[in-house]
Amino acid sequence: TAGVERHAFQAETSQLLKIAAQSLYTDKEVFLRELISNASDACQKVRYLENTGEQIVDSHVELGIHITVNADEKVLVIEDRGIGMTREELKENLGTIAKSGTRAFAAKHADMKDVIGQFGVGFYSAFMVANSVKVFSKSAIAKNAQEKANLWESDISGYYTVQEADQNAVEVPRGTRIELHLNESSAEFAKPEVIEKLVSRYSSFIGVPITVNGKRINTVSPIWTSDPKKVTEKDYHEFYRFAADAYDEPRFHLHFSTDYPVQLRSIIFVPRTHVEKFGMGRQESGIALYSRKVLIQKPAKNLVPDWMRFLKGVVDCEDIPLNISRESMQDTRLMNTINTAVSRKVLSWLKSKAEIKEEVPKEEEATAALQKEEYDAFFREFGVFIKEGAVVDQQNRDQIAPLLRFESSKTRPGEFVSLDVYTNRNPGSQILFVQVPSRALAEKSPYIEAFIQEGIEVLYSFDAVDEFLFNALGQYRNRKFLSASSSEAQKLISEKSSESESKDKDNLDETEDGKKKSDGDKPSGAAEDPEFSSWVQSSLSDRVDSVSVVKRASSTPLVVLDHESPMLRKMMKMAGQ
Ligand code: ADP
Ligand code: MG
Repeated sequence: TAGVERHAFQAETSQLLKIAAQSLYTDKEVFLRELISNASDACQKVRYLENTGEQIVDSHVELGIHITVNADEKVLVIEDRGIGMTREELKENLGTIAKSGTRAFAAKHADMKDVIGQFGVGFYSAFMVANSVKVFSKSAIAKNAQEKANLWESDISGYYTVQEADQNAVEVPRGTRIELHLNESSAEFAKPEVIEKLVSRYSSFIGVPITVNGKRINTVSPIWTSDPKKVTEKDYHEFYRFAADAYDEPRFHLHFSTDYPVQLRSIIFVPRTHVEKFGMGRQESGIALYSRKVLIQKPAKNLVPDWMRFLKGVVDCEDIPLNISRESMQDTRLMNTINTAVSRKVLSWLKSKAEIKEEVPKEEEATAALQKEEYDAFFREFGVFIKEGAVVDQQNRDQIAPLLRFESSKTRPGEFVSLDVYTNRNPGSQILFVQVPSRALAEKSPYIEAFIQEGIEVLYSFDAVDEFLFNALGQYRNRKFLSASSSEAQKLISEKSSESESKDKDNLDETEDGKKKSDGDKPSGAAEDPEFSSWVQSSLSDRVDSVSVVKRASSTPLVVLDHESPMLRKMMKMAGQ
C-alpha cells in the first residue's frame, strides 16, 4: 500500500446541493476558523476516547493546535496532536464532500461534548486561499499504530492523491499537519500578526491551547457555557473586557440559557457608558453570535432589536450552520427566533432591575435603596435607548414602558419616578407632564404651579424625544398622557380649585381679592369676563385663537395653552417658517 492512489472526488449530491444553495462562505478568512475547528474536534475526540479507555498512541502528549507561518514561502501550517486519520479515513473524510467524520463520531458517542463539525464542507474552504493543500496524518488509536503517517494532497483540480508520507520529511507522532501553499491573493495569511488576529477573533474559545509561531493566543474561557453558580464576579469582568473590547467594568450582567424554541447560551452586559452621547453617531450592536464556541458574526446583525445596541456580550446557538455566510445571516427565520428569545430575556431582566418595591421591611430598605440608585444610574446613562425602544419597538412597547423614568414635581433633582409609582400615588385618569428644558424652569413653570399647589404630580420632560414617546405610548395603565400646558389639563385644575373654593371660605376671599385686580396684573380666580377676554384677544390679535378667564390659584397672570410643542416649533424654524 505504499504506492500512489489516484481518485476522483465523490460527492453526496443531495447534501452538496443543499450547501451550494446556502452559498457557503463569502469571507475567505474563515478558512482558518474551519481548520482550527477541525483540529479542535480532533483533540476532543482523543480526549474522549482516552477517557473511555481506548488505547492511545503517545497518551502523554499535551493536546494543542500549533500554527506556523512563513511569509517568505507563503506557507501556513496548522498542526494538531488530535485523533489523526488513517489512509482509509483520509480518503473517506477528505475525499467525500459533505461527509462529516465528526458528525458520525458524535452520533456514535452520544455523550461526546464540544464537537464543532457537522456539515462536512469546512475543510474545503482551505482552497479559497491555497493552490495546494497537503495533509499529513497519523492515527492516534493504538490499534492503527502499525500504519505509518500518510500524505493526502490536492490542488482541487478534481483529483487528490494519498500516499505514505516521507517519514523523514515530517515528524507526525500522531495527529494531523495541514500545509497550505497560499495563492497570490492570499499572501497576507502568511503574516503572523494577521493570523494572530484571526485566531483571537474567531477561535478564542477553543478548548485546547492554540499557538501562532509559538505564541499562545486563546486565553479567555467561554464562561457562557458554565453554570452561572460556578462563575465568579471576576470571571465576568474579565470576560466583559474581551467581549466588549473595554477596559472598564460592566454595570449588570445577565447569564442565561434557553432550550425552546431554540437552544441558546448567552451572557449579556450593560456597560458603564456608551459613545452615542458624544455625538459619535449610531453605535453598532455589541453582541456577537457564536456557534459551539466558534465566532459566526461580530457584531451580529439583527440578533436583538436595534434599540438594544448598547448591550455587549455573546449569544451561542448550536443550531447555526458554521458555513453560513454573512449575507444570508440576515432575515432568516432562525435569526428571528433568536432575536425574539434574546429580547424577551433581556426585557424581563431589565424589568427585574427596574422593579423596586415601594414598601419594604426595615431590614431591606438599604438594599432596595441601592437597587433604585443602580437602576436610576442605568437610566440616566441609557434612558435614551429605552425611550427609543418605547417609540419604535411596537412589539415590545408594553414591556418597555415600565422601564421608563422621569423626574417630576415630587422627586428630588436627578431622582426618578416610574410610571407605575406615578399612577399608584396620583389619582385621576391622566398622567401629567410638562416639557421644559430644565428642572429650574419646570419649577417656575406657570403651567404646573397650580398642580403643585393641589398636590398633583407632574412629570418633567427635558428630552425632545419625549414628545414622540408620549405620543407613541398614548396611555399607561389606562391613564392618558396629558400635557400640563393643554387647555384640558388647565380645565382640570380650575375644576379642582373651584371644588376647594366651595369648601373653603378663605379661598373665596382670595377669589374676591383676585376679582378686584382682574383688570390689572392678576386675573386669577376671576369669573368669566367677556370684556376682558376680548381686550386680550384683540391685543394679541392673530397670535392666539381664543382667550378665557379662569379661576386658578396662580402667581402668573396669563398663560398660553395648547401651544405647539417646542419640538414642532424647532422643526418649523428649521423649515424657515
Ligand atoms: P466537518 O468538520 O463539518 O465534519 P470538514 O469538511 O471540516 O467537515 O471536515 C471533514 C472531516 O474530515 C471531519 O469530519 C473529520 O472527520 C476529518 N478531519 C478534518 N480535519 C481533521 C483533523 N485535523 N484531524 C482529524 N480529522 C480531521
Ligand atoms: Mg469542519
